[in-house]
Amino acid sequence: MKRSRRDDVSQDAVQEVVLEEPEVSGEALDKVAEVERPVEKFKIDKEVPQAKVKAETRKEMTVQDLPGVGAATAEKLSLAGFDTVMAIAVATPGEVVQASGVSEAVARKIIHAAREGLDMGFQTGLEVLERRNRMTQISLGASNIDQIMAGGVHTGAITEFFGAYGSGKTQFGHMLAVQAIKADPECHVIYIDTENTFRPGRVYQFAEGLGLEPEKVLANIKVARAFNSDHQMLLVDKTAELINEGTKVKLIIVDSLTAHFRAEFVGRGTLAERQQKLNKHMHDLAKLADMHNLAVYVTNQVMAKPDMFFGDPTEAIGGNIVGHNSTYRVYLRRGKKGTRVAKLIDAPDLPDSECVIMVTEKGIENAG
Ligand code: ADP
Ligand code: MG
Repeated sequence: MKRSRRDDVSQDAVQEVVLEEPEVSGEALDKVAEVERPVEKFKIDKEVPQAKVKAETRKEMTVQDLPGVGAATAEKLSLAGFDTVMAIAVATPGEVVQASGVSEAVARKIIHAAREGLDMGFQTGLEVLERRNRMTQISLGASNIDQIMAGGVHTGAITEFFGAYGSGKTQFGHMLAVQAIKADPECHVIYIDTENTFRPGRVYQFAEGLGLEPEKVLANIKVARAFNSDHQMLLVDKTAELINEGTKVKLIIVDSLTAHFRAEFVGRGTLAERQQKLNKHMHDLAKLADMHNLAVYVTNQVMAKPDMFFGDPTEAIGGNIVGHNSTYRVYLRRGKKGTRVAKLIDAPDLPDSECVIMVTEKGIENAG
């Protein structure tokens, strides 16, 4: 019997398991505030050590200082979200062309100049170490899962939890939001909700469980419903704007990362386009994680592979693209007696291991 390869295209042929649709509630949700897009002076990210080195010269550098960027081009770039030298330095020529209408050659020059200006070349091992030392973890609410994750969800990285409907992905999203604010009461959490499953009431319970003031916690969570994949991607741009305007964001949650993409891109012909967009979306998230030392938590539903006879007959949506762009991946499944089994898979610096937890009214606990 021939087994199908686990590549992106083969997933098109597999069926997705959706046991039930999540219930839709009419709960009012805050929206990420509509904000103007000013062409800002380039801000030094205080959390990036190498940025300090040339702080004096860089402070003065704006997008308009880049060769080939006049006021009109700067305005167009800004409107597309490229409003800092850093944003341009990490953009692709195609993105700059699309945003500003300049030729590809000019786009390359602009990006090159931005990179030169930022001194984005090599770092010493010591600088990398210093940078890694500033990375922190956000607790997942139970000591045994924190332990397999070496402290919890890491800043500077994307963590993906994947599992079937009801496996607890959204519960962990809520818990992380509360834990992030517990660790730093000044910080904000961005919750991009694509399935209308954010519940202020759950935040309330978790906050109470941790001895926090629930209203204060809720006040620091900015929730935005994403109505389709484009909107979802736009909300990441909006988040970047909030950060550039001074909002201290420590955690971005995208729950679910893949649901809109799965629903909108149906059929073989559109698969490549879907993967391309998903790839860009994850790159945008990774950039924010890296530039601002914040944690990104995304959820992904698994689907059954009816043609697979060995191993776990499920695979996460988005396949290689999502897997490769996530630094840490945790597979959640139902265990005995209402427990959940969490398994860390293929982490770059941690061993594969699993633990058993239980979602309760007040929090998430060790079990088994
Ligand atoms: P997913 O996002 O993976 O689809 P959820 O995170 O929504 O799944 O998990 C839903 C599960 O969380 C429920 O089946 C239940 O086991 C647990 N849960 C939700 N709310 C509570 C609660 N108030 N008390 C105890 N368990 C809860
Ligand atoms: Mg969910």
